[in-house]
Amino acid sequence: MTVAENLARVRERIAAAARRAGRDPSLVRLVAVTKGVDADGVQSCLAAGVHSCGENRVQEWLAKRSLLPAGVEWHLIGTVQLNKVKYLDDTACLIHSLDRLELARALDGRFRKLGREVRVLVQVNVSGEKSKHGLSPSEVEPFLREVAPLTAVKVEGLMTMAPAGPGTAARQVFRALRELSCRIPEMATLSMGMSDDFEVAVEEGANLVRIGRAIFAPGSS
Ligand SMILES: *Cc1c(COP(=O)(O)O)cnc(C)c1O
Repeated sequence: MTVAENLARVRERIAAAARRAGRDPSLVRLVAVTKGVDADGVQSCLAAGVHSCGENRVQEWLAKRSLLPAGVEWHLIGTVQLNKVKYLDDTACLIHSLDRLELARALDGRFRKLGREVRVLVQVNVSGEKSKHGLSPSEVEPFLREVAPLTAVKVEGLMTMAPAGPGTAARQVFRALRELSCRIPEMATLSMGMSDDFEVAVEEGANLVRIGRAIFAPGSS
């Protein structure tokens, strides 16, 4: 299977999941997760019509960005170390993983210096697994109040990762994130769903899915 074929299949599955839930498939944005994929691999997904790519390491992203067309919409989906903030600029379209005030302050300082704004999602650890980054759901609203005065940081939604494996755990996590986002004003973006669980995420209201293996290495899961 080629990347283009995998991508077509992923798009069909997203659309089918959206229709099952009575949602408009065109409202679900796909971010192709290109971590570990070389520039040629990224080119093949751009050629197949992808505009948005997600990376989880700043260094890897910077190296790849320099080899690829300027029009790619880059998403940073992994934990951002404070010492990497100085490399960020507005070629990062959305940072999915704001999970602490220190990082919000560092981003604010960096982007004020650039005279720009940075769009971010707050990462929420809904399942409470120790291995996962993110705020607990009850911390999100107090956190947003602390971030609000940081004028260069624009929070536009929430992101989560579901527990791995089969079962209903993922659905419960996605549903809880959606319910949380509905209670908070201006949380328009809901980033949830990866290769193993994106259909459930779309059924539960995701409008941005982050998919790597199902595009670049199906069968490896
Ligand atoms: C790797 C990664 C993904 C994509 O995972 P796949 O299982 O390859 O689809 C999505 N989100 C984050 C935060 C990731 O690190």
